[in-house]
Amino acid sequence: MGIVPPPLMKIPVAPKIGFVSLGCPKALVDSERILTQLRAQGYQTASDYAGADLVVVNTCGFIDSAVQESLDAIGEALAENGKVIVTGCLGAQPRKILERHPQVLQVTGPQRYEEVLAAVHAHVPPRHEPFLDLLPPQGIKLTPRHYAYLKISEGCNHHCSFCIIPTMRGRLVSRQISEVLREAEGLARAGVKELLVISQDTSAYGTDLKFAAQEWRGRERRARFFELCEALGEMGIWIRLHYVYPYPHVDEIIELMAAGKVLPYLDIPFQHASPRILRAMKRPAAAENTLARIRTWRSAIPTLAIRSTFIVGFPGETEADFEALLDWLDQAQLDRVGCFEYSPVEGAAANALGGAVPDELKAERHARFMQVAARISAARLAAKVGKPMRVLVDTVEARHAIARSAADAPEIDGTVRIGGRGVTKLKVGDWADVNITGAGDYDLQAELKGPTA
Ligand code: SF4
Repeated sequence: MGIVPPPLMKIPVAPKIGFVSLGCPKALVDSERILTQLRAQGYQTASDYAGADLVVVNTCGFIDSAVQESLDAIGEALAENGKVIVTGCLGAQPRKILERHPQVLQVTGPQRYEEVLAAVHAHVPPRHEPFLDLLPPQGIKLTPRHYAYLKISEGCNHHCSFCIIPTMRGRLVSRQISEVLREAEGLARAGVKELLVISQDTSAYGTDLKFAAQEWRGRERRARFFELCEALGEMGIWIRLHYVYPYPHVDEIIELMAAGKVLPYLDIPFQHASPRILRAMKRPAAAENTLARIRTWRSAIPTLAIRSTFIVGFPGETEADFEALLDWLDQAQLDRVGCFEYSPVEGAAANALGGAVPDELKAERHARFMQVAARISAARLAAKVGKPMRVLVDTVEARHAIARSAADAPEIDGTVRIGGRGVTKLKVGDWADVNITGAGDYDLQAELKGPTA
């Protein structure tokens, strides 16, 4: 019997959403917010009605002419596309909309971001691809208003052999620094307490712009990773960095973390530790001595939380390579890790590599890897018991609240479950000061000391 090649994983085409934004700057911030969330969840923006799977119309209802303009825009979107969700100020008067346009799929009011996202999901479901998306496969939880994703660039200049993003999304295109900062400032003004900075290669930000300078709030800022983080750090909210590669200039960001400007949290997709496999993967910064870097960072910031993702069962991965990975993980003592079993992606260079690892062996390595990861996580969390901590509240339930610390990104990391007197007075999006009272493999328990303004 010949060798049966593994099934190729089909990369789904991202669903496209058309967006019509009417009204004042506040409505514009709402539109940006919705679009940012949609992007982070894997949707693309369509530039015309014909190319859209669905159209969102963000309306204005301030004066009669604005109402008329909004109703006309809805009519046009229905005629040109047919699938339309309406939000914004006129959405506060759904009768007015539905009387004229009963075919509208859903109407939500102003700043009802979560409802707009839920409606988009219901009519055009998001598609998850673990190598491409930051968000987890267990369905999209609707992102509350107190945190938001801030995408700083598109595309990527690398050629990792398991990835086809550069083919799909092109080379790195960074957004102008003033545009990114304007969006961040608008989100902070709208009540966002935490910005999650995302891209395919966050620390490469601005290299394509040749670090072009722009004026921002009376000061010249260059499109450099450090200057972007420095400016974001002045907004008085949590700034969390995802998809950072350990290039040498990342050391400057550690200084911003030590100064309390940026959260002491680094999401670095290491993917492996065996030099042979990293070379086969063609990973950026593969030659860096990552253990030495991590030790230096932690000596500057002992509370630094490091998150990463890994692939086990990459073609040619031997038992020795895998043991090297486990040994590296033990030494690196990463706080949070995710692990995928390798799966070929149609069009990826790695498909031509020999040495496919059998599925059972991949599953076994995945289980062994996660055992080590859980042991490390449990020990690191246990060391936090008895310590005070500031957390951000995500949900409030009958007798407790669920929050996150600086070490926990939403959706992908752990949580802090808070009990104690006064806990039900907390609101979603509040800061709270707590004492850590217990720890599990991935989550913490705490008692409330007091809500914090
Ligand atoms: S750095 Fe590698 S894995 Fe990440 S997007 Fe670029 S090519 Fe893909």
